[in-house]
Amino acid sequence: MFKSAKIKLTAWYLLIIMTVSLVFSSVVYVGVGAITLKALTSQSIRIENEFKECVIIQQPKRFINKYDVQTLSEIQERTLNTLVWINFAILLISGALGYFLAGETLKPIEEMVQKQKRFVSDAAHELKTPLTAIKTDFEVTLRDKNSKTDDFKNSLTSALEEVNSLSVLTEKLLKQSKYTYEEKPTNTEIFSVKELLSEIYDKHDANRIFILSFPDEDVKAKGNRLEIKEALNNLIENALKYTPRDKKVEIKLEKLGREALIKVMDEGRGISKEALSRIFEPFYREDDSRTDSIKNGYGLGLTIAKDVIEKHGGKITVKSEIGLGTTFTVNLPTV
Ligand code: ADP
Repeated sequence: MFKSAKIKLTAWYLLIIMTVSLVFSSVVYVGVGAITLKALTSQSIRIENEFKECVIIQQPKRFINKYDVQTLSEIQERTLNTLVWINFAILLISGALGYFLAGETLKPIEEMVQKQKRFVSDAAHELKTPLTAIKTDFEVTLRDKNSKTDDFKNSLTSALEEVNSLSVLTEKLLKQSKYTYEEKPTNTEIFSVKELLSEIYDKHDANRIFILSFPDEDVKAKGNRLEIKEALNNLIENALKYTPRDKKVEIKLEKLGREALIKVMDEGRGISKEALSRIFEPFYREDDSRTDSIKNGYGLGLTIAKDVIEKHGGKITVKSEIGLGTTFTVNLPTV
């Protein structure tokens, strides 16, 4: 699909360049002819004037005209030859350059389509897993002639769990597509980052080594408070999820110039180098077990967090060392 698009785009580039080049060449050809003719005419007038005073030569006009015509057609022929070669060279160079440029133009679109394809196939896979589990469970219970009320109840209970997991997934998918395609934040307001972090902090387990530290001054940002809260909450939940209870998790807010720096630091298991480059991709999980997605997550949290922070003009970076811990840093513009 992209190959034929590349060729079509190259053909369009060529058509435009060659049309311009041919029009320009025609103008040059006609112009050179006209200028030459003008130059030859004034030259012949000059010669004629000189020969008027000379009595020996009878017909200077005819003698000069014959050579004028020859010179003119010679110049025209040479110009035409040169222009044909130049156009041929332009055709070759712009063909190669056009093909390269068409590739470069289509590259981001191709990448986006590939990403989209991967996203749809991963989403379908995620949706298929619980549906298959429900189907198998129902089939087994229905096929068994000795199934009792309890078996049906069990079947329905596990189906309900899977349905819950499916609804969480659908909600995340909807959010992800909304955040990815929205270019600017909606429902924006000015809010205190300190308050927002305190709200997240307060709702989490107090029986952990969990520290929150703030600067003295208030730090205010502008944006969709709910979305930013969700993004930061995800980082904090991950830190708590991937860190043993006896190890520290710390949230630190700093103000650096016109930016708020929110650091979520943990002393957990860390992230491998290979995984670090992929953790923001949709559905990426370091231990890719889709068996207990509702507990382990769907690998969409960081994708959503990144989309939200970037949409607000900020950025999110990560540093990690296996066995030592991970630090996510969010830079958010302040007001
Ligand atoms: P999930 O919902 O699966 O946690 P995320 O997108 O939030 O999805 O995270 C993607 C993956 O990044 C996780 O599966 C995990 O492997 C890794 N990860 C994220 N945060 C941390 C952390 N603080 N420590 C270790 N691994 C992490």
